[in-house]
Amino acid sequence: MNADYHIHTEFSDDSETPMEAVVERAIQIGLDEICFTDHVDYGVKANWKDSGEILWIQAINQRNVSYSAYFDKIGALEARYGDRIKLRRGLEFGAQKGTTTQYDALFEKYRALFDFVLLSVHEIDDLEFWNQDFQRGKEQEEYNLRYYQELLAIVENFKNYSVLAHLDLLSRYDQSGVYPFAKVRELVAAILQQAIRDDKGLELNTSSWRYELEDTSPSRAILRLYRDLGGRILTLGSDAHKPSQLAERFEDARAILRDELGFKEFCTFNKMTPCFHRL
Ligand SMILES: [Zn+2]
Ligand SMILES: [Zn+2]
Repeated sequence: MNADYHIHTEFSDDSETPMEAVVERAIQIGLDEICFTDHVDYGVKANWKDSGEILWIQAINQRNVSYSAYFDKIGALEARYGDRIKLRRGLEFGAQKGTTTQYDALFEKYRALFDFVLLSVHEIDDLEFWNQDFQRGKEQEEYNLRYYQELLAIVENFKNYSVLAHLDLLSRYDQSGVYPFAKVRELVAAILQQAIRDDKGLELNTSSWRYELEDTSPSRAILRLYRDLGGRILTLGSDAHKPSQLAERFEDARAILRDELGFKEFCTFNKMTPCFHRL
């Protein structure tokens, strides 16, 4: 089984890739299954009304997925390509403490359609990490602790997701270098224990190679901790924004999980239920 479970397309505001280009590339490179996981970031991006009209929440040029058009298009592609590849319906929820009820409402509305949900934290207090808005004016210790505290508060209350995506995302944008794991270990353990109690998993995000990070994403230390705490639900995601990035470095990722970290299986999802496959 070869499946990419983190893919962005034209429905994400940071990608222009038509969904069909992703499907064709996935078939070409021999993937058995892909899951679309376009972005929803409540609080910082404009949302859509059911009428298809955009609902501007801020004067910024960012938007969430247009949900009904999104699910309709995956359905149409399924009809066209379904005999060659399995297509799954997912979203990437960029949650904040104050937006989880909006995600619960979104999930309820499309509950029957969802196969999979990535849970990410991309911003806190409506401040993004990638452009340093959140980190600016804070010490490295402060923004790192705030990040993991925010994620812990979210997983304690929010359950409508499948796996934690790029769990140590903030380190990708940390201009002071990688913050020592020992200093956040307890918080990370609390997050993982909560996820395990809730039967949630962890994603290995292979964009770490693209960003030329020194470690995997999340780090080997976090993957090892998840294993030691009894976690066994893992997905592989490229975080592709272009077809050429699909399933990037999956062989390396599988080898690390299997040979370095001792995991035996990874998962695909069907209607929010994990299905296990040999690594
Ligand atoms: Zn993300
Ligand atoms: Zn993503």
